[in-house]
Amino acid sequence: PGKGGTMTLIAILAGDGIGPEVTAQARRVLTALAPDLMFEEGLVGGAAYRAQGHPLPPETLALARRSDAVLFGAVGDPAFDALERAMRPEQAILGLRKGLGLFANLRPAKLFAGLEDASALKPEIARRIDLVIVRELTGDVYFGDKGRRLTSTGLREGHDLMRYDEVEVARIARVGFETARTRRGKLLSVDKANVLETSQVWRDVVNEVARDFRDVELGHMYVDNAAMQLVRDPGQFDTIVTGNLFGDILSDQASMCAGSIGMLPSAALGSGTLGMYEPIHGSAPDIAGQGKANPCAAILSAAMLLRHSLARPEPADRIEAAVAAAILAGARTADLGGTMSTEAMGDAIMAQLG
Ligand code: ATP
Ligand code: MG
Repeated sequence: PGKGGTMTLIAILAGDGIGPEVTAQARRVLTALAPDLMFEEGLVGGAAYRAQGHPLPPETLALARRSDAVLFGAVGDPAFDALERAMRPEQAILGLRKGLGLFANLRPAKLFAGLEDASALKPEIARRIDLVIVRELTGDVYFGDKGRRLTSTGLREGHDLMRYDEVEVARIARVGFETARTRRGKLLSVDKANVLETSQVWRDVVNEVARDFRDVELGHMYVDNAAMQLVRDPGQFDTIVTGNLFGDILSDQASMCAGSIGMLPSAALGSGTLGMYEPIHGSAPDIAGQGKANPCAAILSAAMLLRHSLARPEPADRIEAAVAAAILAGARTADLGGTMSTEAMGDAIMAQLG
């Protein structure tokens, strides 16, 4: 049973570009493995702006709030690039994260056997990647005081304040430790404590939270070293917890090590079970409407939804195994060097579900 006590409701926010194409395949897989789920679609992004004049209409946020989990496609439409910032499709993601209280972004990066050639790394190194980055989503330089001015000597100057308080650090640290606990029991906290005050608070608080997780092996690393190590030997990492800015950069870097952008899912979580699940890729306007987008990232996002919001690990495992088996059997969309359509890739994965 879901939030309402009766039905488990999944909000489908497919959005723009390839969002609807890949989300349709994820929904298909969810329906097959969890036939009791109820789905309701909401408008978001450019699609919502076009229909209702706002990228995140109040009814969409209300739908997401009363749902048990949100399956999100992608937003972004070049037709709206000239709009003021608050009306751009991408703002919908920020509005949803804020409106749903989602502060932790989980991005697993794993190389599927058979995709070694797609990685930016040498095959024998790439094969060892199996990590998850836990990125803080609500603080850091993105949300601190910002400004631009002309100095007294006439120079253009900008500033973005980096800040975290101990409550914000502690709650993301807990997600990091809990995630590590479900994996190989190793957590690495990434900061820049040699030069940043913010990072010193971060490191102290992570060490304090560690007392509640004595079974997890904790390490610390400076972000510059972490970036280097990620390319040199990603196999050394299990779970990485870090702030918003460092997590933004490291998670994109990790995704390239793991192969195509079309393979990688993500979850945004808060303090309850409600979460938002989406591929890490965007709306890909260059291939939208052509039926050639890779649906794996969306399908793997559905697996994360089952695991994290609905506490159903068995079907989640089955989905991940089916994607792995389909890839191993040679199923390939264009981004992976093949010729399969989005739907044919969905078929190949459905076939592996048995
Ligand atoms: P955003 O700002 O929303 O992240 P973006 O411009 O950074 O968007 P994407 O929309 O992710 O980038 O597209 C980047 C490139 O990757 C494009 O060439 C796109 O076609 C390709 N791409 C993205 N997702 C997929 C997918 N699922 N299957 C195949 N190719 C994809
Ligand atoms: Mg992008």
